Amino acid sequence: MYTKVIKINQEHIDKAVLEEAADWIKRKELVAFPTETVYGLGANGLDPEASAKIYAAKGRPSDNPLILHISDMDELEPLVQEIPGAARKAAEAFWPGPMTMILKKSEIVPLETTGGLSTVAIRMPDHPIARALIRESGCPIAAPSANTSGKPSPTRAEHVFEDMNGRIPCILDGGMVGIGIESTIIDFSEKKPVILRPGFITPKMFEEVIGMPVAIDPAVMGGGAKGIAPKAPGMKYKHYAPKAELVLVSGEEGKVISYINRKVTEAHRKGERIGVIATDETADRYQGDVVLSIGTKSCDSTIAYHLYDVLRRFDHEEVDMIYSQVFETGENGFAIMNRLTKAAGYERIEV
Ligand code: AMP
Ligand code: MG
Repeated sequence: MYTKVIKINQEHIDKAVLEEAADWIKRKELVAFPTETVYGLGANGLDPEASAKIYAAKGRPSDNPLILHISDMDELEPLVQEIPGAARKAAEAFWPGPMTMILKKSEIVPLETTGGLSTVAIRMPDHPIARALIRESGCPIAAPSANTSGKPSPTRAEHVFEDMNGRIPCILDGGMVGIGIESTIIDFSEKKPVILRPGFITPKMFEEVIGMPVAIDPAVMGGGAKGIAPKAPGMKYKHYAPKAELVLVSGEEGKVISYINRKVTEAHRKGERIGVIATDETADRYQGDVVLSIGTKSCDSTIAYHLYDVLRRFDHEEVDMIYSQVFETGENGFAIMNRLTKAAGYERIEV
């Protein structure tokens, strides 16, 4: 299949381009498009045949449900059985935005889209191209991240092309996304709200808005390694991984840098090449063969923003191993470490 990449400007959305993309969606085909979190791989989420194509293109396990994207609050009600008060408050506060909520699904949502579950994940993205495409298509768009299953999520159209060339008819290239990591997922389908995937909207932000405590699914942080099954089926799968093995090193910064530099020296004796994920502050203190800065520690949203791009850039470098310091501080630290820990297959060295 020929994959057409069409540039689109979010400030002046070209009507003809939008109609062409929506036409593919109406014909049960797949369109990749930018959202403010990562690029999504979209199809008509109410059509089992269309959503089956998403699983095929990504190589995604069929029990891993899709998120339905809507463009307006009116589109929510037909998709769910009820909207609890807390969910309504969260939607008012965080939509459009990087929050996905899990609610009990209505009859019109096919089990093919929800991976066989009786609940459905819904989000209203805060990106003009995503919202315009949903509106023009006239249906909720099921859209997981537009990467091959297991690989880092795409934050640029080039990443989507790497994974999806020949597999889908159309990629809308709206440039680099805004946040860089996937939405926070919160489950409102039972009495107590539970965060199933950390993201830009933090537990504290939810508690302030809904006025009740939110729990965090124990599988989210390290639980996978201990065999705890996550409530979001997708969280149990290997994810975000670059081709080379990634090892996290935590501890006092000076010690971490010395440890990694020692490992670089050892590797060089064996003729191996080492990649290092550093920050703007630490990059020139590392001796790795390829040292990439992920952002600045003084603003952790820069780290979230560059995370997947950096992981993917190592796939284009001949490195045998990648070391990374950990980024546990700040508002986004929880979400960043959730992704990085999985990318490293839970491998972590304390120094
Ligand atoms: P992605 O769109 O690729 O970022 O992945 C969507 C995530 O949402 C996966 O981890 C899914 O398991 C999770 N998800 C989607 N629908 C549900 C649901 N009904 N219940 C729990 N988790 C869900
Ligand atoms: Mg994904």
